[in-house]
Amino acid sequence: MIVVHQLEKTFRSGKGQVTAVDNVSLNITNGSFTLVKGPSGCGKSTLLFTIGGMLKPSSGSVLLGDKDLYKMNERQRVAYRSNKVGYVFQSNYLIPYLTLAENILMVNKVKGVKVTMQDVEALLEDLNLSHRLHHKPSELSVGEKQRAGLARALIIQPDMILADEPTGNLDPDNANQVLEYLDAFRKQGGTVVMVTHGTSADHLADRIIIMKDGNINQIK
Ligand code: ADP
Ligand code: MG
Repeated sequence: MIVVHQLEKTFRSGKGQVTAVDNVSLNITNGSFTLVKGPSGCGKSTLLFTIGGMLKPSSGSVLLGDKDLYKMNERQRVAYRSNKVGYVFQSNYLIPYLTLAENILMVNKVKGVKVTMQDVEALLEDLNLSHRLHHKPSELSVGEKQRAGLARALIIQPDMILADEPTGNLDPDNANQVLEYLDAFRKQGGTVVMVTHGTSADHLADRIIIMKDGNINQIK
């Protein structure tokens, strides 16, 4: 379980100070599916980045068992970020000059990860992308690109997927495919925290959290 305890993140910018996440406490059970909703600017992405070990909170903690993610040393936090958590974003951030297979094999640059071409082929087959193995991102459809983004997250066999509006650019059919893969990951024991708008993922979620001005409210 991940325990988010009294988390606060404040940004200082030219316009002054913004509290993006304001005293949020939340338990994320292993194998659960959590949806986070709320208007633009309410702090959803900031919360996700903080849970993912990418953004240090101003105060409060993210506890992994008895370990505080932001009191670990950098090496341990990098290991968590790289080996335990898969990230999917609204844009897929594939490298345009590499094929899909090469994009995914890039994870081998991370210490401790060893992914073979066979692993990539098997996963891309699962994601209905076998025919795109040696294609560049520009040759993929929008839906294929997003499934490729999903493949890059899944290839490390993470414990948890953090997905920030992963269906935001997709038509309903492609959006549903992405949701089905996230659901399948969860059914194999994975944990999902997903930011989304609309109601199309509601039936998959154990819990729906609404954020407003950095605060959370659970509605399901
Ligand atoms: P959401 O994902 O819900 O749209 P964000 O978490 O991206 O919201 O942002 C929450 C608030 O924090 C917004 O007011 C945003 O402008 C501000 N914010 C986010 N990141 C930064 C940053 N790096 N520097 C300054 N302000 C930021
Ligand atoms: Mg956001």
